[in-house]
Amino acid sequence: MRILVVEDEAKVASFIRKALAEESYAVDVCSDGPTGLDLGQSDVYDLIVLDIMLPGMTGLEVLKGLRNARIKTPVLLLTALSKVDQKVKGLDAGADDYLTKPFAIDELLARVRALLRRGAGEASGLLQVDDLALNPSTREVTRGGQRIELTAKEYALLEYLMRNAGRVLTRPMISEHVWNQDFDTFTNVIDVYMNYLRNKIDRGRTRALIQTVRGSGYVLKAES
Ligand code: CA
Repeated sequence: MRILVVEDEAKVASFIRKALAEESYAVDVCSDGPTGLDLGQSDVYDLIVLDIMLPGMTGLEVLKGLRNARIKTPVLLLTALSKVDQKVKGLDAGADDYLTKPFAIDELLARVRALLRRGAGEASGLLQVDDLALNPSTREVTRGGQRIELTAKEYALLEYLMRNAGRVLTRPMISEHVWNQDFDTFTNVIDVYMNYLRNKIDRGRTRALIQTVRGSGYVLKAES
């Protein structure tokens, strides 16, 4: 899951970035409206955290620009405590949720999880492929009812694969969404982590769910 944070207050931005990174999200930060609009339009993000008071363009203008460009990425607006009308305007402009500053980081993380679930169209939040299940709320992963322990990176990789089950994911896509890294220097790391994940998910099972697509990347799917 890759998240864009548009926030001009360096301290707040770094606080949010750190908290999201600890939850294994890939995070990009920018500090002005036009850059936020530009990055948001690239449509590689799963969620955008958008401050309203920004240099260059307001967050509301950025949001309108994104929705006009048919970018449907969920947007969590950050509003100042006193500006009640900003919330209304923000929701009218297509924001999915808002958070009033100052906020507790746990609340931000809870809103982020909720929006990512909604964005993925998962009413229950539970992701399931064959007998493999992942619960984004509890971060619990099971296969055939057996609990599987994953590291934070393995979990992030599996969640991305499961949210895109049946779709071939290229190494550049995986590195952008899970590692937030330039792909060129990164291909070995993806393959190494994919092996770790396979050892935990597929090893010793009659059906392998993670498949290599030669020359393309990887796909997670139930065997037909
Ligand atoms: Ca601001």
